[in-house]
Amino acid sequence: MVLTISGKHAATKATTTGLSIFSRKFKVQKYLTFGPDTQCNKCLAFGHHTSKCANDTHCNLCAGQHPAYLYTCGQSDCPIKGKQCLHTTLKCTNCRDPHKADFKESPTTLAHTRKQLRGGIGLTRFTHVFPFTG
Ligand SMILES: [Zn+2]
Ligand SMILES: [Zn+2]
Ligand SMILES: [Zn+2]
Ligand SMILES: [Zn+2]
Repeated sequence: MVLTISGKHAATKATTTGLSIFSRKFKVQKYLTFGPDTQCNKCLAFGHHTSKCANDTHCNLCAGQHPAYLYTCGQSDCPIKGKQCLHTTLKCTNCRDPHKADFKESPTTLAHTRKQLRGGIGLTRFTHVFPFTG
């Protein structure tokens, strides 16, 4: 379904309050809105959207090349899989510091962004709003 909402005010109203069409309420979401502080769910880098990711999958616990749900600590007697356990040595795939790569509450999120900006990644701020036009 493609919706066209004319007028910036109507579009803003639709995103904040929802949209009523044929007496059914649709939730209107911004689509692919991201900037340097957006984190990719796949490689865990900042500055691009998961759907645009061309990198390898990274684990948010050990920075290995596997999704976090496949994480194991490597201890054969440890029953915990797919999450942090007593044996976990955290390693951030972005800065190599000992914390989870998706630790958003941390000021290091900003540090990551700045590092990547210096590295030339995320210099362009992409904002693509769908399905609004005009
Ligand atoms: Zn990515
Ligand atoms: Zn891992
Ligand atoms: Zn363990
Ligand atoms: Zn980090």
